[in-house]
Amino acid sequence: MTKQRNVAVLFDERVQAHNPEVEEPFLPGRLERRVREILKGLDVKWSYPEHPGRLTAIMDLLAEQPIPGVRIEPGQAATHAQLSRVHTTSYLDDIYALRGQNAWLDTDTTAVSKGSVEAAEVAAGTAIKAVEMVVSGEADHTFAVVRPPGHHAEPVRARGFCLFNNVAVAATHAQSALGMSRVMILDWDAHHGNGTQDIFWADPDTLFIDMHRAAPFYPGSGTLEEVGAGFGEGTTINIPLAPGTGDLVMIKALREIVVPAADWFQPDLVLVSAGFDAHRLDLALNASYDGFAAFTGILQGIADKHCDGRLAMVLEGGYHTESLSNSVHAVLKVLAGETPADPGDCGIEEVEAAIDYHLPAFTETD
Ligand SMILES: [Zn+2]
Repeated sequence: MTKQRNVAVLFDERVQAHNPEVEEPFLPGRLERRVREILKGLDVKWSYPEHPGRLTAIMDLLAEQPIPGVRIEPGQAATHAQLSRVHTTSYLDDIYALRGQNAWLDTDTTAVSKGSVEAAEVAAGTAIKAVEMVVSGEADHTFAVVRPPGHHAEPVRARGFCLFNNVAVAATHAQSALGMSRVMILDWDAHHGNGTQDIFWADPDTLFIDMHRAAPFYPGSGTLEEVGAGFGEGTTINIPLAPGTGDLVMIKALREIVVPAADWFQPDLVLVSAGFDAHRLDLALNASYDGFAAFTGILQGIADKHCDGRLAMVLEGGYHTESLSNSVHAVLKVLAGETPADPGDCGIEEVEAAIDYHLPAFTETD
């Protein structure tokens, strides 16, 4: 155990009012007809995968197994001005008009319920608070436990269960209001953060690095050659991963691409789009709890080296509630100062024990 650090988990119950239930009546229109046709074509009964139980699982586990150094703080709502650093006024008008309604936003089944607009404002505002607290020194590191997630949301479009791009709203707030001119965002969610990439595509002051399962996995973007453009050419870095990729390969990518990129960029603040659907129980990739702990140690090292430890994490995906809650718990322990174990090949100890058990029967002679 190294020095204990002061970590704030930010959680606000208002985000749980985002709860689209497909049985309820939705705003009529073309999208409603299209999505209902898609759902009718499915063999199984469909329910909205990005549901309040995700965050309940995280907060319940933290209450059952508190971590020394980790405290819980309330969130806050983002203002129109803060959201408009990332989203267009017309998009914000369209979203605000959906207060109190059930409506589909995209044929990928992204939807809102009656409380979703406020939930999305609070998710983005809580991400802002996460950066405010690490910049002011109120916490060494922060973790915003928020939903709806954000990294698929584009300036003018909701997608992939995301309404407002929380991490981008937090990054632009740090730059515009907190004097953090150079911000690095590492996205380790299993899906490519197409929205975040789009927002910072031509911005040389924001380094966006995304490790994700390669196309054709959703949303299909994030090839090696997507590196930004104009002033921002070179400050977008994509690391597409093969299906089945596990801890050791992701750690290699972090050590051999992300660490040198951070040394080159020299961030004033490090943000993580922390999704947990790369965990093997979530089926997208093959990371483990030890893997997420190790990833966290590497990011913490980057923040310590370049920016006085200023590291804020914002929750993205992760749909298997057991692996989601345990992964977040593993990350928080490292943020609070625990040294992460070096993950080995999953199952190697067990197979070595099996070898020791069986081999003498074939090789020992009497
Ligand atoms: Zn994801």
